[in-house]
Amino acid sequence: MAYTVLARKYRSQTFDDLVGQEAIATTLKNAVAGDRVHHGYLFTGTRGVGKTSAARILAKALNCSKHEVATPTPCCECESCRLIAEGGDIDVIEIDAASNTGVDNIRDLRDNASYRPARSRFKIYIIDEVHMLSTGAFNALLKTLEEPPNHVKFIMATTEVQKVPATIVSRCQRFDFRSIAIDAIDGHLRNLLSLEGLEADDAVVRRVARLANGSMRDGLSILDQLLSFGAKALTVEVMEDILPASHDAQVAALFDHVADQEPGEALVCVEQALSSGQTMERFSESVVEHLRTLMLLNVCGAETEMVDVPQTVREQLVTQSQRFDAPTYVYMIGLMEEVRRSVRTSAVARALIDAAMVRLAMAANFSDIQTLLDQVGGAPSGETRRPTANPTAPKTATPRTTAPRATATPKRPPPETTVRRPDPPKTTRPSAASTVSSADQARAHRDPAVQQAMNLFDATVVSVTRAVDSGDAEKNTAGGDASDESGTTKSNERQR
Ligand SMILES: [Zn+2]
Repeated sequence: MAYTVLARKYRSQTFDDLVGQEAIATTLKNAVAGDRVHHGYLFTGTRGVGKTSAARILAKALNCSKHEVATPTPCCECESCRLIAEGGDIDVIEIDAASNTGVDNIRDLRDNASYRPARSRFKIYIIDEVHMLSTGAFNALLKTLEEPPNHVKFIMATTEVQKVPATIVSRCQRFDFRSIAIDAIDGHLRNLLSLEGLEADDAVVRRVARLANGSMRDGLSILDQLLSFGAKALTVEVMEDILPASHDAQVAALFDHVADQEPGEALVCVEQALSSGQTMERFSESVVEHLRTLMLLNVCGAETEMVDVPQTVREQLVTQSQRFDAPTYVYMIGLMEEVRRSVRTSAVARALIDAAMVRLAMAANFSDIQTLLDQVGGAPSGETRRPTANPTAPKTATPRTTAPRATATPKRPPPETTVRRPDPPKTTRPSAASTVSSADQARAHRDPAVQQAMNLFDATVVSVTRAVDSGDAEKNTAGGDASDESGTTKSNERQR
C-alpha cells in the first residue's frame, strides 16, 4: 500500500481533534448545535494550523448523513463524512483559488450554486487560498456571498487575509487560527508516534516541535523525513544525521565570535548558516530567538523555566549568556529585529545581515567613539557623558541610541557618575574608515543601499569617519545630513 504522509493520515477528524484551536472549535460546535451557522466563513492563519481541516470538519458537521440535522459530532463513518474527509464529496466542492483565479471560475461556481445539493443538506464551497482570486473574481463572488441560496455555505481559507477585499471579509464570520504552541505540537507528535508504534527520544520530538515553528503540518513533514530514514528508534544521532546541521548550534557559534570581537569569523558562521538552506529571514529570526534565550538566562538566572532547552544545551547557553550584559542584549535584539524586518523587502538583504554581524562583533570599537573624538580634539568628555539612557525610551529601545546628545540639549547639568559597561572594551582599534576620502563618502551617501544601511545603523560609521577626517567633532555634529543621528549615537556609544 502506498505510504500516506502523516499530515494526511492523521488529519483532525472532529472538532475535538483540532490541536491548538480550541476556542475556534468550541465556537463552531456551538454554532452548529444552536443552528446558527453563518453562510460564509473566513479562516485565516499561517500554513499548517488547521484551517482546511476545520473547514472539512464543519462541512461534515453540516452534512453528516447519520444525523437528521447538522450535528457538532459528525459520525466520520457515513459516506458523506468519508468523502468529505478525502476532499471528494459531490456536495462539498473544494476550490484551490491559487489555480482558479479567474472570473470565469467564479461565474461557474455562481451558476452551479443555484442547483440544490445532490444528496446532502448543504452545498458547501471550500475555497482555499482565497486571497489569490482576481479582482474580477472577487466581484463576481460578492453577490452570491451576500445572499446565497439557503442550501449554500462558503468556507474560505487564506494565509494572507490582508489581501482579501474588505467587502468579502465583512460578509463572512472571520476566525483567526493561531500558530500552534510548541507543547501542543510536541504532545500531538508523541501521540502519533505511539499510534505508529515508534520510539523517539524526547529531545528529538522536542526539536521537531520547535522546528515546526507553530505549524503542525511542518512538524509532521519533518517527522516524516526522520521516519523515512528507516531507523527503529528516532535517536538524537539519527536526527543529527538527517536534519541539516543544527541551526541553533550555528547561531551559538556565531555569538561566540561576536563575543570575541571576531567579525571575520562571525561572517563565516553566517555564510555556513545561509548556505545550509536557511532563508535570510529565518536566519534572522533564529538569531533573535537565540539572543532572547541568552538574555533570559542572563537576567532571570541559569535555571529559569522560561528557557526551553535540554540540560546539556542549557549549560553551554548559560556560559555564553554571561558574555554580554543585559543592555547589550536589548540593543542586539533591537538591531536584529530591524534587520529581520528589512531583509524581507530589501534587495541587498545579505549585506544588511553581514553589516549587522560586523556591527555586533565590533561593538567595542563603536562604543569607544568618544575616545576617538577626544583624540582629535573633540568636545570635553564630561559634557557628553550621561547616565545610561532611559531603557523605556521609545523609538529603538537601544541603550546606545536613545539618549539625546548632551551638547545638543544642555538643559541639565551633566551627572557626576559615568555608567560604563562591566567589561570595558579590550582595545581601541584604529578606525580604517579614516582613509576614506570625502568624495568617496559623498558618493557612497547617495547610494540607496548605503542610505538604508545608515538608517539601520544610526549612521555611526559615518559619524566616526567624519570626525576623524575633519578633526572637529563639534562641527560635524552640528551640521550635515547625518548629524542628528550620528551625534546621538556618539554620545551614547560613550556611555556604554
Ligand atoms: Zn457522518
